Amino acid sequence: MIPHMDLQAQLSILMPELLQKTEEIFSSRSYIHGSYVTKFEQQFAELQGAAFCSGCSNGTSALFLALTACGIGHGDEVITTPHTFIATAEAISHTGATPVFVDIIPTTYTIDPVLVERAITPRTRAIVPVHLYGCPADMDQLTSIAKKNNLLIIEDCAQAHLASYRGQPVGTFGAAGSFSFYPGKNLGAYGDAGAVISNDGALVTLVRKLLNHGRSEKYLHEIIGYNHRMDELQAGLLQIKLRYLEQWTARRQKLAACYSRMLQGVPHIRIPVVPDDVRHVFHLYVVEVPERTRVAAALKNQGVQTGIHYPVPLHLQPAYRCLGYQPGDFPVTEQAADRVLSLPLYPELQEEDVQTVCRYLVEIVNNLADRGASA
Ligand SMILES: *Cc1c(COP(=O)(O)O)cnc(C)c1O
Repeated sequence: MIPHMDLQAQLSILMPELLQKTEEIFSSRSYIHGSYVTKFEQQFAELQGAAFCSGCSNGTSALFLALTACGIGHGDEVITTPHTFIATAEAISHTGATPVFVDIIPTTYTIDPVLVERAITPRTRAIVPVHLYGCPADMDQLTSIAKKNNLLIIEDCAQAHLASYRGQPVGTFGAAGSFSFYPGKNLGAYGDAGAVISNDGALVTLVRKLLNHGRSEKYLHEIIGYNHRMDELQAGLLQIKLRYLEQWTARRQKLAACYSRMLQGVPHIRIPVVPDDVRHVFHLYVVEVPERTRVAAALKNQGVQTGIHYPVPLHLQPAYRCLGYQPGDFPVTEQAADRVLSLPLYPELQEEDVQTVCRYLVEIVNNLADRGASA
């Protein structure tokens, strides 16, 4: 069996270090509010090219905290894409603001700047680009639109640790960037965790206050806050994994290149496009195929596990019926939702496994096409 993702492989390598760190943290008897979180924040900020970082409870709270610290709330509109994990829109909704969806660029699956510009109203306050699958959005155009219209940019970097656009790390283009350390992400904790990065010290100070009950000092609460803290155990374990992130990322890129070499030019299969001048960190290797359900089932029969990111666009989710969107509103997103298929990818995957997956995939797609042609 070739899994879509495998956390076991890295665990075997990291286990001694993780256990030692766990023992150290247990013995410290400091589980919240301690030096492990502070140290991790410094390390992550440095790695991600930002001046400041605040750890927090998960990627959803990271985006929520960043938006809230920017003053976004009731009556505001925030533009994002419907082709993302629901957390992006939830974070916007939880501030009281309204998510306004615009379609994606078909090549990169990231938000289409031309459509962003058309969606701006007097209520628009911010744009939330999602660097989906690890591919940076078109930050040049988005930054210039934001500047022209006096909008904030808050980047959802949950799938894009170490990704960069024209040499600049994601998360540093606008007011703030949010990250997730959900176990399956490129940098994953052993539980839930997330972070906000920014070059604005005051903004990060406000994020820290918000996520810790609005506290300025022990018994003083200046604002009504939340409990969205990162805990010491996750921070300590993330410190260990942080040291491997660059090498794991390089490995993801290498395996992605291997996939693309083998699948390039194969009829009916669309491979990922990597724009010039970006570092795509391949959280996922996503192809498009016709008859996706059949292809996925046939691959599963051969022992190849795949994923779908994401089969139901946010504008068609029951939870967002309230926004009043209809099928057909975002054709590029809807077509992608019908066709995308995430192939197995994790740093410990072997090149031979990639070749095996490609052989099966090409055969399956060819067979389906032949059957279609003869029908
Ligand atoms: C994973 C993810 C999130 C949410 O992160 P959690 O840590 O699970 O809360 C937000 N946005 C995107 C694009 C994600 O992939």
